[in-house]
Amino acid sequence: MTIAENILQVRETIADACARAHRDVADVTLLAVSKTHPVSAVLEAVAAGAQHFGENRVEEATDKIPDANRQSPVPLTWHMIGHIQSRKARDIPPLFQVVHSVDSLKLADKFSRLMVERGGKLDILLEINVSGEESKSGMAAVNWSSNQTVRDLLWKEVEQILVLPGLHVRGLMTMAPIVADMEQARPVFATLAALRLALTESFGIQMPDLSMGMTDDYPIAIEEGATMVRVGRAIFGQRQ
Ligand SMILES: *Cc1c(COP(=O)(O)O)cnc(C)c1O
Repeated sequence: MTIAENILQVRETIADACARAHRDVADVTLLAVSKTHPVSAVLEAVAAGAQHFGENRVEEATDKIPDANRQSPVPLTWHMIGHIQSRKARDIPPLFQVVHSVDSLKLADKFSRLMVERGGKLDILLEINVSGEESKSGMAAVNWSSNQTVRDLLWKEVEQILVLPGLHVRGLMTMAPIVADMEQARPVFATLAALRLALTESFGIQMPDLSMGMTDDYPIAIEEGATMVRVGRAIFGQRQ
């Protein structure tokens, strides 16, 4: 299968999931996760209509993003989806338009200061660890709806992030655990959707985006309200 054929198939799967959930396909953005794949693969995806791309490492993105932008016939939007070390934060705003992986007040504050220096606001999502897996980054939110301590800590941190002048908090992002059957990921996605609702009601704000769902589980994520799905292998094939 070519990248173009894969994208067509992913779009059909997205449309089917939207139909099941009575959602408009226009409300789900497909992010093609191009990490480890060359610029030529990105350009093939662009030719097949992809305009949003996800990368997870600053080192890899430093040459790749400007190269792809130079060669693309249409403007591309780049999404940072990987874990960010504080000392690499400065390199991100010149390359990426959206950062999905802001997982602490400290990192948010760093980005805000950088943006105040640069001028403008950075679109960010807060990465949330819903499942409690130790291996995952993200702000702690296990049992947030029943555990008052978890909820208070999270609310306090979000409250402080929301007032930072250099950021525009667009929503929440999560990664589901690896499971045998994608249906098992549903509670994680439903929990993230419920958390977004609770935060928007508490703080009286809009947070339009839910970034959730990858190759193995994006149809379920869409049924649970994802507005951005991050799909790598189903488009570009296995990574080395
Ligand atoms: C690699 C990656 C993806 C894409 O994963 P696939 O399983 O290849 O679709 C999505 N989100 C994040 C955060 C990733 O690191």
